Amino acid sequence: MKIDFNKNEDGLVPAIIQDAVTKNVLMLGYMNQEAFDITRETKKVTFFSRTKNRLWTKGEESGNFLILVDIKNDCDNDTLLVSVKPEGPTCHTGTDTCWSQENTSNFGFLSQLEQVIEQRRTASDSSKSYVASLFEKGINKIAQKVGEEAVETVIEAMDSNDELFLYESADLLFHYLILLQAKGFTLKDIEAELVKRHK
Ligand code: AMP
Ligand code: ZN
Ligand code: ZN
Ligand code: ZN
Repeated sequence: MKIDFNKNEDGLVPAIIQDAVTKNVLMLGYMNQEAFDITRETKKVTFFSRTKNRLWTKGEESGNFLILVDIKNDCDNDTLLVSVKPEGPTCHTGTDTCWSQENTSNFGFLSQLEQVIEQRRTASDSSKSYVASLFEKGINKIAQKVGEEAVETVIEAMDSNDELFLYESADLLFHYLILLQAKGFTLKDIEAELVKRHK
């Protein structure tokens, strides 16, 4: 890897630290050639601290090391993207990230959809909202709806119409998200169960 350590007079390049699984940004530090080499050798992310004015292995006092998974160079070789497995909270204030965020999974649009479903469940007028009206009908009706959409998905899977299969799969996933929430669970709970089984 060819990194341009001489772009800045101090020989430092910024290193963006990202969780390898959740993809959240955990912190930003700076590396010189030596910090970079030590990081690759020891697999413990090591910076050159501008405050301490010395090499600094993150976690050297707290034990909250950042275990190296992968390092990528950016388009013009002057910024590193460091993928890690954190062994504890990354920020010295005790939070998961240096921006006071929780380092939890985010399922993109599906997470947004979970939030919308929650809003409909807690606040909406059921005469206007399909989701709210489902919650009003209760858990059995919601579960039955998931069953129907599952059967429709199975039928389209056996047929050869990809468009209908996708359509019914979306129906199934949407209604499944509603059922999950009606039972008091989230996608994160399902993820945790799957992670537990993954050896
Ligand atoms: P640690 O490397 O986790 O043992 O922390 C040692 C010291 O480094 C702390 O007391 C802070 O001064 C500093 N420090 C730790 N984590 C961070 C961070 N994420 N960003 C900036 N400074 C930090
Ligand atoms: Zn760049
Ligand atoms: Zn911090
Ligand atoms: Zn359907």
